[in-house]
Amino acid sequence: MNDRSLHPESLMMSYGYNPEWSEGAVKCPIFQTSTFVFKTAEEGKAFFEVAYGKRAQRANEKMGLIYSRLNNPDLEILENRLTLWDGAEDCAVFESGMSAISTVLLEYLKPGDLLLYSSPLYGGTEHFIQHVLTQFGVRIARFKTGQSEAQLDEVVRATGCADRLKMIYIETPANPTNDLIDIECCRRIADRFSTPDSRVMLAVDNTYFGPLWQHPLKHGADIVVYSATKYIGGHSDVIAGAVLGSFEVIKRIKALRTFLGNMAGPWTGWLLLRSLETLKPRMETQARNARHVAEFLARHPKVGRVNYLGFLDESDPVRYALFRKQCTSGGAMLSFDIKGTEKDAFAFLNHLRLIKLAVSLGSTESLAEHPATMTHCDLDDAEKEELNITERLVRISVGVEHHEDIINDIAQALEHVHPAVETDVYDITSKELEPV
Ligand SMILES: *Cc1c(COP(=O)(O)O)cnc(C)c1O
Repeated sequence: MNDRSLHPESLMMSYGYNPEWSEGAVKCPIFQTSTFVFKTAEEGKAFFEVAYGKRAQRANEKMGLIYSRLNNPDLEILENRLTLWDGAEDCAVFESGMSAISTVLLEYLKPGDLLLYSSPLYGGTEHFIQHVLTQFGVRIARFKTGQSEAQLDEVVRATGCADRLKMIYIETPANPTNDLIDIECCRRIADRFSTPDSRVMLAVDNTYFGPLWQHPLKHGADIVVYSATKYIGGHSDVIAGAVLGSFEVIKRIKALRTFLGNMAGPWTGWLLLRSLETLKPRMETQARNARHVAEFLARHPKVGRVNYLGFLDESDPVRYALFRKQCTSGGAMLSFDIKGTEKDAFAFLNHLRLIKLAVSLGSTESLAEHPATMTHCDLDDAEKEELNITERLVRISVGVEHHEDIINDIAQALEHVHPAVETDVYDITSKELEPV
């Protein structure tokens, strides 16, 4: 069933696979093989010519399987299905989100080039940019959410090497505060610094809201990257990554993947094919639950600011317009300040029973963590303050459990919070519900 006019959720069980290839098996088997047999030497020669880019693929020429570092049915079918959600031409899957991200950065940035990136980024990405890319002579500049288009232009110019800008790399919504970055605005900046023979690439890490609730390629991004460990895998049992974009982009990414050897294995591919069948119902349940949880938190006397995108409305017209343009849901990630100090945030986390105290996100089970001392501990105090990552902030990834059970667990854990001082910061940018 290869009819792209159907909805993605209808195609996740069948797209790109024919049971006749595998003894009528309704599901694609795990192709646990390192190499594939050629029918003839001529066929082997033809496959290699295309795989190594020695000549273009001829019309109606079927690309054959060679060796599982280059291609494998579990990966190819997974890649074809992943393109459907984002409306991408092609996809490449990796053994982790970090391998997808580092391969994109290494492919598109050369010594002397300039990378502009948003802050905060996922900690591993920020580390790779600051401590690895710079060792190869890549120059870097960062900007914060909330800076205007003119300010971003100025950040680029202030580097003194604006003519070497080669990539803008962003994460939106930002983790853990749900701040939004305007993807179309980043496209305009990329275009301003592009020349006829050098396009400034715009890459978006869409892990937090994709592939269901945000589609950056439709807003001008060239490249979308995922940690497929999160919503795409969705069961906290596999590490994987993906890159999506045009045929031209993915051809380059797959070429470097072949030589770095960081492709996903067939077992990972098979697990993700299985996960994709339930992607939409899982994410929709999580988003519904998150709204219940956010509304409960916003009314709770021991809770201060709640960062949840589903609360945006006409009272904050600029952010609301951006949210409506880019996102189709409030998502299932939220963070909130517990009134008090780190000790009170820890008391809450230590008393959760159903919700697990762990990093990661997007999985079937609800998870809670403390960004300031866990996922974002690498930021210095000034950066944390700037980004509202307070000692009181708790992040929750809402799962598929019954929402009443999640809320009851939060309620009982909050009973163990007895702040000595009620520190509370109200922010005009986040909406508070009236206490009931
Ligand atoms: C988890 C995560 C990554 C890294 O992915 P891995 O699969 O752990 O390598 C990258 N970006 C974001 C936003 C993430 O949440």
